[in-house]
Amino acid sequence: MGYLVFQPQNAHRVRVEERDLLFHVPTTSLFEIDETDGAVLGFLAEKGRIAEADVAARFAGHDPADIARRLKGLRDLEIVTDGRAPSPERPPIRIENFPLSTIVLNVNTGCNLSCTYCYKEDLDTPSAGRKMALDTAIRSIDLLLKESPDREKYNIVFFGGEPISNLRLIRDVVEHAEPRFAALGREVNFTLTTNATLLTPEIVDWLDAHRFGLTVSMDGPKALHDLNRKTIGGKGSYEAVATKARMLLSRYRSRPVGARVTLTAGVTAIHEIWDHLKNDIGFAEVGFSPVTSGTMTAFNLNGDELLEVFEGMKALGRLYRDEAIAGRNIGFSNMHQLMQDLYEGRSKALPCGAGVGMLAVDHEGTLNLCHRFTGSEMETYGNVETGLKRKELSAFIEARADRTDKGCATCRIRNLCSGGCYHESYAHFSDPLKPTYHYCDLMRDWIDFGIGVYGDLITRAPQFFHTAIAPRRAHGK
Ligand code: SF4
Ligand code: SF4
Repeated sequence: MGYLVFQPQNAHRVRVEERDLLFHVPTTSLFEIDETDGAVLGFLAEKGRIAEADVAARFAGHDPADIARRLKGLRDLEIVTDGRAPSPERPPIRIENFPLSTIVLNVNTGCNLSCTYCYKEDLDTPSAGRKMALDTAIRSIDLLLKESPDREKYNIVFFGGEPISNLRLIRDVVEHAEPRFAALGREVNFTLTTNATLLTPEIVDWLDAHRFGLTVSMDGPKALHDLNRKTIGGKGSYEAVATKARMLLSRYRSRPVGARVTLTAGVTAIHEIWDHLKNDIGFAEVGFSPVTSGTMTAFNLNGDELLEVFEGMKALGRLYRDEAIAGRNIGFSNMHQLMQDLYEGRSKALPCGAGVGMLAVDHEGTLNLCHRFTGSEMETYGNVETGLKRKELSAFIEARADRTDKGCATCRIRNLCSGGCYHESYAHFSDPLKPTYHYCDLMRDWIDFGIGVYGDLITRAPQFFHTAIAPRRAHGK
């Protein structure tokens, strides 16, 4: 018998009411463990390094074969080793190809609203808006297909400013793309995030006919929405947005429509916002984006507010769980996403697809990591005329993915968070290579909470994953 060395970076225990769950960090898998497993794990964690014979002695009252079987299970998961370091989770990332599935077109830098917190660094008033030309959009699609010719599905995302303010281009792109992808035997999907104000029944029907995935930016009931989402003249935009959103929802049939809420300083009322958008307005899903790193620091949630936001998200998460167990889906996107990641056992090397599966093209055709970087001072990666700066882009992605000497190397949520959003790091630390260290504890707490909910649902409402999570995946969310 040899020695057993506990590897704390690979195991994380979460207690959910009466149940003990073991989260296997390298694979993001979850196991329910019994009292003996718990006692063995607790003993190994306490000792750190111990002779196998001493473990057998400690559990002398148990069947030795049973204890040996449990230890083998822990060895197989590399939660204990014989003293050697666990095998690397994955070889260092090397990016040679860019399997693009998504291209984001910034069709107009202009916006007809003037939301006080807007992060877009290339945002202009409507009259000063710089619009993308059709030729640039077509070259973007050429690039998508050149870099990644063999996919079955592609996504074209229209972003702004307010994308509907350049509807002419959107219509032309759809007219160009649909027959082009059909001739290749490929599927193309379109998505768009809008402030809703420019929608008309005719536009909605056209978007519906082309099965656009739509998200409306809306921040909640009037008092909260109007705090920041204002017209150019400085008036609240709630009445206009709510009217248009109701019109949209009353006639949109092809896909569920979601709302995206930006949480800024002073806006932490998660349940109230969700209730209004889901139950009063009628969105299928509501997702929250807490702002921690905007360029205008006055709008960032402060530490206490961020704490309140996460507490509110957990309270809504409990409602999500209870309703899911009763067979209902309350449409809380953040929770859905976490359930999907855990259900699919995703072990992510990268936080998102930016720069690898997705690129954003600004109005001039310059290539950016994602839509949040257009117009910023962040390095760009070529343009649709001259092509992708492959070397520079892979160097960035590889450097950010390298966890050596970073806190992420041993973090228990490293394969779900993967260092966090590049833009958050860029905005908070002026360094996109740095992990989003400014709210790790909150993220870990949120993931622990999600693991608990997942553990509950998988045993008490497994059908929820088929009825609510799988269709969401099919919609590309
Ligand atoms: S950024 Fe923080 S929470 Fe995320 S993986 Fe790194 S250490 Fe963990
Ligand atoms: S870098 Fe951040 S904002 Fe951009 S796609 Fe990734 S997670 Fe989203």
